[in-house]
Amino acid sequence: MDKETAKNIRKSLTADCTKCFGLCCTALNIVPSSDFPINKPAGIPCVNLQSDYSCQIHSSLREKGYKGCTVFDCLGAGQVVSQVTFKGQSWRDYSEVRDKMFRVFPIMEQIHEMIAYTSEALSYDIPNVFSEKLSVQLEELQDLTALDAEQLLALDLVTYRFPLNQLLSESSKYIREHLIAKLPGTKNSKNYNHERADWVGKKLSGTDLRAVDLRGAYLIAAEMRSADLRGADFIGADLRDADLRGANLSTGIFLTQMQVNSAKGDRKTTLPAHIQRPSHWDQ
Ligand code: SF4
Repeated sequence: MDKETAKNIRKSLTADCTKCFGLCCTALNIVPSSDFPINKPAGIPCVNLQSDYSCQIHSSLREKGYKGCTVFDCLGAGQVVSQVTFKGQSWRDYSEVRDKMFRVFPIMEQIHEMIAYTSEALSYDIPNVFSEKLSVQLEELQDLTALDAEQLLALDLVTYRFPLNQLLSESSKYIREHLIAKLPGTKNSKNYNHERADWVGKKLSGTDLRAVDLRGAYLIAAEMRSADLRGADFIGADLRDADLRGANLSTGIFLTQMQVNSAKGDRKTTLPAHIQRPSHWDQ
């Protein structure tokens, strides 16, 4: 697969709530927290969900304590379940699809997440040994999105995740090593491996974090103002309330919309092309 096609696939993975039957507001189990003030069991519509599947408090979610709703991103899984898997049959009008639809939604979310990472990896200059395997994986994952509900419910996603994780990790290593080789100065003495680092609240403002491995790192409330995070691998990193104001993440690897939505930023924060600037960030 060529890089442009891969980039377009990655970019296309955005939620279109107008084509979704409010699945994130219904299917998921949400317990009260600082991000969501009420108890909402799985399969029960949120009290704020309207009959047209829009949110009654959409414009004031943060003020009303529903911060989590401004962070969540299904990567377009909601509209695919609603319009492709269930062919436009809503759980309100067709009660017989209700239970299956709610169980299929988190499965489709995981498939879309894997498609996002795979297509992003294919958008970089990587050797054929990686790109050929990733292309096969991507095709398989795309085929899964067309399965019917029964087939989706019977999937064992671990069999897809495990080989994919390995490939993504190797691809990231290759991409970052090539960037490191171009960096001047301390490249040989610097520690680039911070996988699963506990950097909760750590003061990292202005730091050069180019090409570091932040896979699964705990960056909650980390102060990363104006940090240089180009080429850093963010897969699975927890960026909740991390201060990214003025930071450069323009070539951050495997960064998701949900991670960015959960962080703090401003108009000076630089993001990859497939990530939208959150409307709740400082202007
Ligand atoms: S508050 Fe609005 S966006 Fe959040 S779950 Fe309820 S209906 Fe959905």
